[in-house]
Amino acid sequence: MLEVADAPTLRAELARVRCEGKRVALVPTMGYLHDGHARLMLRARAECDVVVVSVFVNPTQFGPSEDFDRYPRDLNRDRAIARAAGVDLLFVPDGHTMYPDGIDRQQVWVEPGLLASHLDGASRPTHFRGVATVVSKLFNLTLPHRAYFGQKDGQQALIIERMVRDLAFDTTIVIVPTVRDVDGLALSSRNVFLSAEERAQAVVIPHALAAARAALGEGVRDSGTITQHMTTVIRDGAPLARIDFVEVVDAITLQPIDRIEWDAMIALAVFFGSTRLIDNLVVRFAHGAPHFT
Ligand code: AMP
Repeated sequence: MLEVADAPTLRAELARVRCEGKRVALVPTMGYLHDGHARLMLRARAECDVVVVSVFVNPTQFGPSEDFDRYPRDLNRDRAIARAAGVDLLFVPDGHTMYPDGIDRQQVWVEPGLLASHLDGASRPTHFRGVATVVSKLFNLTLPHRAYFGQKDGQQALIIERMVRDLAFDTTIVIVPTVRDVDGLALSSRNVFLSAEERAQAVVIPHALAAARAALGEGVRDSGTITQHMTTVIRDGAPLARIDFVEVVDAITLQPIDRIEWDAMIALAVFFGSTRLIDNLVVRFAHGAPHFT
């Protein structure tokens, strides 16, 4: 596995493989890799010739009072996980490579507009412009045929899909299902911050999504009824939880909907102490019946 830190070497290496007619995959990450990231890498490995993984804790997607400084980092472990997944090139840029004039002097941003007005975008107002901007930089640096994103960050994946369409990037976005721990909690780099008690109670998050799924299966379509069920599951099962949001949105516009009659995303964010966990369920309708991813 080749490790590259600077843009010219990355561009030269990938220009060479593209000339050979090889298909390039990109898996953008913030490192502290786990099996969720590995699933993206393995999918990329199966579908493309050259797999690039980027590890960059992007400062512009963190708010001023968020956890940028204490975000977990372990590059040695990341190298081992990437190597085991068959990654060809690990791109580990520093801040200067990604923001040559510094983040305070960055002038041109990719603004996700109304797609960022709800869910995580409402709680973290500058988050998605930071994500969309850094992902567009990574796309310009690697020119990937395909880029892989996790369903766990559902709003992010939909914003990136839309960015590619609206800004004419020549990249196919692949969204990979959420990888979960045995009890159903979505794997996340931030799970490491949970105390044993918080980790045990965090299972209410997948339980709340299961309650939504069950209600939809029974024919409930009213968003308020569904979010009420979910809130009850969380309140009853996790005294340590503080709900940030539980929301139902249209799966394309990401705007709130009162009733689930077409494709929708049910998403939630819950704090345990200062650790904020997110998860979601996408509902699609085929022949009138709901299907879930
Ligand atoms: P992060 O390093 O948290 O920015 O995540 C990098 C990529 O991995 C994003 O596309 C995430 O959605 C994806 N990802 C993170 N956790 C999971 C998971 N549990 N299952 C699937 N994909 C994930």
